[in-house]
Amino acid sequence: MKFKPANKIQDLQYFGEFGGVNPSISDSSTYTFLSAKTMFDTFEGNADGCYLYSRHSSPSNLYLGEALAEMEGTETATVTASGMGAITPVLLQLCSSGDHIVSSRTIYGGTYAFLKNFTPKFNIQTTFVDTTKLAVVEAAITENTKVLYCETVSNPLLEVADIEGLAVLAKKYNLKLVVDNTFSPLSVSPAQLGADVVIHSLTKFINGSSDTVGGVICGTQEFIDNLRNVNDGACMLLGPTMDSLRAASVLKNLRTLHIRMKQHSKNAMYLANKFEADGIKTVYPGLESHPSHELFSSMLNEEYGYGGMLTIDVGSLDKANELMELMQHKNLGYLAVSLGFYKTLFSAPGTSTSSEIPEDEQAEMGLTDGLIRFSIGLDNDIERTYQIMSECMREVGILELVS
Ligand SMILES: *Cc1c(COP(=O)(O)O)cnc(C)c1O
Repeated sequence: MKFKPANKIQDLQYFGEFGGVNPSISDSSTYTFLSAKTMFDTFEGNADGCYLYSRHSSPSNLYLGEALAEMEGTETATVTASGMGAITPVLLQLCSSGDHIVSSRTIYGGTYAFLKNFTPKFNIQTTFVDTTKLAVVEAAITENTKVLYCETVSNPLLEVADIEGLAVLAKKYNLKLVVDNTFSPLSVSPAQLGADVVIHSLTKFINGSSDTVGGVICGTQEFIDNLRNVNDGACMLLGPTMDSLRAASVLKNLRTLHIRMKQHSKNAMYLANKFEADGIKTVYPGLESHPSHELFSSMLNEEYGYGGMLTIDVGSLDKANELMELMQHKNLGYLAVSLGFYKTLFSAPGTSTSSEIPEDEQAEMGLTDGLIRFSIGLDNDIERTYQIMSECMREVGILELVS
């Protein structure tokens, strides 16, 4: 039977303590115990259903975590204060000094910087490879490798990971496959395809209102318990805890994620087709010209579409900047990093979100100067948006250039 992530979220029902249609928000950092024995057992990790201290867990955070675990089809999940607050504890929990990670080379700039500059301090080394080539991934695995790391749809180049193929490699070499699914919530369910741990930055599509940062780690009960262990759990000890009030507000936004994803995808598909027909170099997984279009289609929970992210290449950074400033002036969207907002957001990744990646490496992975990354918004009238966008492109001389 097909996996239906939005149904699974909707089938969860929580009521507030006074019968409210939303669960009550837990407004406490600490919790009382009726007996001292129960407190001891809870510290030992043996008292189910008891709360200890809100850095460990809180009712509001557990509600949100459970809903996201349902969405990904994992045993459980734990929410964190940001996406990086999810990624970094997972990697530090899975790796010790001397261990090795094989990572995609096209990943979020912060994750790249963490693996390139930070984890080597603890003697955790990372080899960055083109994870779309399974043979290259396999060749990079050493006897010290513990983790395969990738993004379902990579930032910013929109390369697509063959999650089932990577999961086979992970099994063969006894590694954990960790997948950042931030760009494709609902559209792809990595755990159903064999990923061991699925991470999201909730900051993006899932919360969808660009008013907070947040993250989630979805995995087995055992792994999440390990992360929260009071003695050696990376989440418990590093402390990237989401606040309860925020967990409650993200949960409310999650209720409309399926509707938003469909509209993001519909609008992005429309624009990608138009841009490509205009002769602009366009990358969108929904286009047949995308090198991994078939692979992405085979992984897709179809009704949600190919997502809201697309890139175009307008030839130079100057042109890109000129176009973005004009589009903002015409109220088509905002010149801003991040994604998943109701409004279209655009930025030039080479000088912003991926500026952590050295220029020569950017060139090698195909991250060109003229690249603009779009997070397409929820515009009700995307035909009108396209008309105004193409006027902007004509005005800055992009359409003439390519035709
Ligand atoms: C934004 C982002 C992150 C980091 O999330 P924060 O919430 O900003 O910490 C990680 N991965 C991807 C793919 C992202 O887009």
